[in-house]
Amino acid sequence: MPSPPAPREIDAPPQAASPAGVAPPRRLRACHECDWVSALPPLRPGQKADCPRCGHTLVRRHYRAAQRSLALAIAALMALGLGVSFPFVSFQVGGIGNRIELTQTATTLIGFHQPLVAIVVLLTIVVLPAVYLVGVIWLQSGLMRGTPWPASRALARSLSHLNPWMMADVFIIGALVSLIKIAGMAEIQLGAAFWAFCAFAILLLMTTQSIDGDWMWFTLAGEPRAPEGTLVASRAAPQGVTGCPTCGLINRLDGEGRGQCRRCGERLRARLPHSLQRTWALLAAAGVMYVPANVYPIMTTTSLGHSEPSTIIGGVVDLWQMGSWPVATVIFVASIIVPVGKMVALAWLCLVVRRSDELHASVRTKLYRVTEFIGRWSMVDVFVVAILVALIRAGSLMSITPGPAALAFAGVVVLTMLAAMTFDPRLIWDTPPSPRPTPPASQGSSR
Ligand SMILES: [Zn+2]
Ligand SMILES: [Zn+2]
Repeated sequence: MPSPPAPREIDAPPQAASPAGVAPPRRLRACHECDWVSALPPLRPGQKADCPRCGHTLVRRHYRAAQRSLALAIAALMALGLGVSFPFVSFQVGGIGNRIELTQTATTLIGFHQPLVAIVVLLTIVVLPAVYLVGVIWLQSGLMRGTPWPASRALARSLSHLNPWMMADVFIIGALVSLIKIAGMAEIQLGAAFWAFCAFAILLLMTTQSIDGDWMWFTLAGEPRAPEGTLVASRAAPQGVTGCPTCGLINRLDGEGRGQCRRCGERLRARLPHSLQRTWALLAAAGVMYVPANVYPIMTTTSLGHSEPSTIIGGVVDLWQMGSWPVATVIFVASIIVPVGKMVALAWLCLVVRRSDELHASVRTKLYRVTEFIGRWSMVDVFVVAILVALIRAGSLMSITPGPAALAFAGVVVLTMLAAMTFDPRLIWDTPPSPRPTPPASQGSSR
């Protein structure tokens, strides 16, 4: 078996042989968050290169990247297989009980005329993670044998877009919240699949963290040189070049600010098109959806023949009065603070984006990163509804049905996530133009 390419120092492109005594050309990157061009230093496993202007991590080098990702992806896929084949959780009250499997959290919703929420649940916890893991196994096994399998480049490009939509970790929090919510009213037993799914969530997270994109693209397609005359310690846009958001390579754009990456084939734009307009539109849609999400009940609890609908905030108040204030706090933060905070933060960023200066720009970029990171955690309440509706089925003795707010709230979460994605953080740094000098690439500063 041919030995896999070693993920050691990647300094210069292999095809760029330079005459003796002349430093090899360095690999240039344009920061995806502030558009600053820097030269990558040689990196050893465990090291990373940050953007000197905004602190965004440009490259993180891993030890034996392909082997590590492959092993983690196989383990995660096996854990997912166990997670969907055994009982997930069961409950008993007054001699009547119910036992569910993981996928029933989605399929039961269809029976209650909530097919869209069911699709969102199924996609985010099972389908997309499974597709991602199979893709990683295909890709990394090809890299390990030295010759990538067919379609590896298209696959590597697509997989990088899946990350934020895989929510196994959020689902685990949703499961814990649901179980604590009903622990006082019924007897709960965790099945084998619950623990398998916990292991899967952790392994999936480790798999996404283990991908060394820079090394992967270097091994897949080499490193074409940066366009002639690209300067470091300067912004990319005024030079007519841009960094590829998928593989990092710097490419030249045409007169209209469009282009295509020479290495991965991604379509490139100097800035995300109509970034502010799209973010505003998505924020407005999310704001509109937020009203029914809070006015209508998110679920209806029937206990001993008596039905009681509860809204999101009503559920928080009930939990607080029952004394489970830790769960009440989790739901309050995930369902009220995070979505509202995210909408306010993005609206503020859109408003002040044109009034930038370097000092405040770094604060705003940090705010944007937090906004982008926390968005998916709002799904907790949607998962709580999915789990409780599937599990608590004991007729008029005790049962839970979903309310119209579940769909509206899932819509708010998806729309705010899209709003954060369409916002281009490089706009924060676009004004005023930097007065700094621009030394040539070979002497560029970087760290
Ligand atoms: Zn940067
Ligand atoms: Zn690319």
